[in-house]
Amino acid sequence: MANTSNWGLCIKCKWWQIEPDAALASSTHGLCIEQSMQPYLLRVSGGSGCGLFLEGEPAHAKGSGDSPPTAAPTR
Ligand code: SF4
Repeated sequence: MANTSNWGLCIKCKWWQIEPDAALASSTHGLCIEQSMQPYLLRVSGGSGCGLFLEGEPAHAKGSGDSPPTAAPTR
């Protein structure tokens, strides 16, 4: 069964990690640092989303927007 009850957008998720100077925009790409996703280097845009969403401010680290991301998770 899909988890839809907690679904939210990366742009408002505390697990979204973007470049230090990146704009908060649906087209900005960054690394998902939710713990279970960390092995996969999941790169997502502000307009992406999932059921592991947790409301908060995005983290920032250089290399978060690379393909693949090269930044270490900061949370
Ligand atoms: S993929 Fe899910 S957990 Fe990761 S930043 Fe986006 S909403 Fe948050």
